[in-house]
Amino acid sequence: MATEERAATSSENAVRKVVIAGGGTAGWMTAAALAADLADAGLEIELVESPEIGTIGVGEATVPFIHTFNRMLGLDQADFMRRCNATFKLGIEFVGWRDVGESYFHSFAQFGPNFKDVSFYHMYLRYAALMAAKGADVPIEASNVGAVAARHSRFRHPHTVEKSGLPPHHYAFHFDAALYADYLRTYATARGVRHISGRIVEVAQVPETGFIKSLRLEDGRVLAGDLFVDCTGLAGLLIEKTLGSGYEEWKHWLPCDRAVAVPCAKAASPIPYTQASAEASGWRWRIPLQHRTGNGMVYSGAFADSDDAVEARLMEAIDGEPLAAPRRIRFTPGRRREVWVKNCVSVGLASGFLEPLESTNIHLVQSIAFKLLSYFPDRHFDQREIDAFNAEMQLEIEHIRDFIILHYKVTEREDTPFWAYCKHMSVPDSLQARIDMFRPHGRLFVKPGEFFTYNSWLSVMHGQGLRADRLVRQIDRLTDEEVIAYFEAFNGRVASVVASMPAHDAYLQAFVSAR
Ligand code: FAD
Repeated sequence: MATEERAATSSENAVRKVVIAGGGTAGWMTAAALAADLADAGLEIELVESPEIGTIGVGEATVPFIHTFNRMLGLDQADFMRRCNATFKLGIEFVGWRDVGESYFHSFAQFGPNFKDVSFYHMYLRYAALMAAKGADVPIEASNVGAVAARHSRFRHPHTVEKSGLPPHHYAFHFDAALYADYLRTYATARGVRHISGRIVEVAQVPETGFIKSLRLEDGRVLAGDLFVDCTGLAGLLIEKTLGSGYEEWKHWLPCDRAVAVPCAKAASPIPYTQASAEASGWRWRIPLQHRTGNGMVYSGAFADSDDAVEARLMEAIDGEPLAAPRRIRFTPGRRREVWVKNCVSVGLASGFLEPLESTNIHLVQSIAFKLLSYFPDRHFDQREIDAFNAEMQLEIEHIRDFIILHYKVTEREDTPFWAYCKHMSVPDSLQARIDMFRPHGRLFVKPGEFFTYNSWLSVMHGQGLRADRLVRQIDRLTDEEVIAYFEAFNGRVASVVASMPAHDAYLQAFVSAR
């Protein structure tokens, strides 16, 4: 086929209209991304949501990848933070996960560099042993600028810190989910996205192919389109109820299947990290925003005494006046077997759900939205491309799943039936292999492109109490003095950089009000 002919065919077959069903975080993030990237190409985008059904109303902690999304939209960081009441996030403190009374930090910053071909981790193990012999306990997080800054509630943008010669230090945000959706709605509608309020009551399909043709609303309006994006949350109205994608359940590895959430008034200056505290049959989150604190409990219905008892425990644990009635949520951990079926791509909770322990769901929304842009179809909907898309998403969600399971599996706790179950449960082979490879020599294999880095796996494996049986032989090349000198210099630099950072709250207030 001649080039002009091919170009004409491809523009004749171009997707002209996208209909997004659902206006939660997933719907508006997808709408904003499509509008930023494709609206100039003449793509029509319509988003329909039902105010009576509403949104899930949680999802306030993020990972650093959110910067890529915000940059793609061209958002001004101070404006975004001001309008979403956002705070900076340096990582997550895990309280009581390894054992009652213990805590560790999973920071977005890296640990120290290798020295003479010996990895930082092996250096640290030797150093910790030397210090222990002298009666001193030096936690691994003393070598992580993000963790130390978080513990002191200090913050400064990393580009100023990196000049200190320390390894890169990343950060993310906590924000008000409803305000973020509003912010993106303003962004998307200003770029031509049509916003429709109404409840979808019927999904019409092309009889011969099963492709989705249109959505009918309660008031009789019909929304036709070429490509449909299912952002209807846990309902999965298009991808599951209409197209029957199928769901792979992971409750045997991730036993938590319920949550209760409640915002409360802020009791103190917001800290720059999320807290995840282990509880008898699950865990509790605390997310500090500028104006309030988000709280919730994620737990297993099979192990908890009752929903009322879990809610009572949450209300007892929060540190400010509740600002709304607690909201109960049920979910099934797992993944949609095919995120993309025919002419429908599911995003957000409609595409599957992993509990929010590592704040990865908004990241997955972003990841699917970006993949949709790079695999943006024409109306042929090439099945090979759809299969490739689905395979990539499967790999990504399984990797994140393994990382979350690690927090439950590698624990010393057996004090409640829930923790005893987690400690002794079998885990996916892919995770078991990582744990088994770590045990002999503390070696960690992270494949290129995997979302969680070496730093993250190390933080959680070490923090949960996993230890290498032996050190690598290269460590014998170093003298005790060299090891001690390395840590005195590196940890000293971390401490002095953190000492020069302003308090998080003061920095945040100055940053959001300066522009
Ligand atoms: P929803 O917010 O449920 O939106 C669904 C939309 O579909 C709504 O607009 C609704 O009106 C519409 N809709 C549904 N049915 C119809 C219909 N028939 N007609 C018209 N419209 C319809 N993620 C993170 O990254 N970090 C976190 O800290 C985090 N914490 C979480 C805590 C809990 C307890 C839970 C359950 C989730 C958490 N998540 C978190 C996940 C995060 O909340 C979601 O990924 C995110 O909010 C996206 O939700 P959504 O837009 O897919 O669904």
